[in-house]
Order: sequence, then structure tokens, then C-alpha cells
Amino acid sequence: MHCLNLVEAHHTANLLRSAGIRAEVRNTFLAGAVGDIPFMEAGPQIWIDDRQDVELARTILAEASQVASGPDWLCEACGETIEAQFAQCWHCGAMKPFSHDA
Ligand SMILES: [Zn+2]
Repeated sequence: MHCLNLVEAHHTANLLRSAGIRAEVRNTFLAGAVGDIPFMEAGPQIWIDDRQDVELARTILAEASQVASGPDWLCEACGETIEAQFAQCWHCGAMKPFSHDA
């Protein structure tokens, strides 16, 4: 349902699982298709087992993105911009530094 990087995908899947939705990350190691498919579309995706859970999943993700208020943060290790709801850099795996800002 989403094109995500791997860390985001696992965060999202865990979030959904914690709400009782059977979700899994697929296409994590998609082989052979990268040449034909734009990179983002070859990335990991969240798959919901039960169609009936899809709307609930969307609601949960929408709420989660609202809860995660605050600015995006910059990874001190690699300089990547990370969305506020993630506590770990998707690019290099560094943990979010303690907040310097208000
Ligand atoms: Zn980083």
C-alpha cells in the first residue's frame, strides 16, 4: 500500500501488527526488476493480509503521522533528513540524537 524505504516499512508493519493487523513487508530484496522499474517502486511495500483491515490500517497510519508531530530531524552521522516519527536513520541506521530544539 505504500512505497517505503526498508526501515520505514518495518516501522509501519510493526505499528499495524501492534493494532492486530496482519501486515508484512514484501519486495525487500526484489531481484532482477530494478532495471525496469523506477527505484521507488521496487522498494519494500506494506502488504495487508486481510482486505478488511486496509481501511483500518490507513486510519492508524494517518493517526500515527499526526501523533508524530515535530519537525523532521537531521541525521548527525550522514546528514539525511528523517521524518519525525522515526527514531532511527533509515539511511545509515544511526539513532535519533536527543532533541536540541524546542
Ligand atoms: Zn544517517
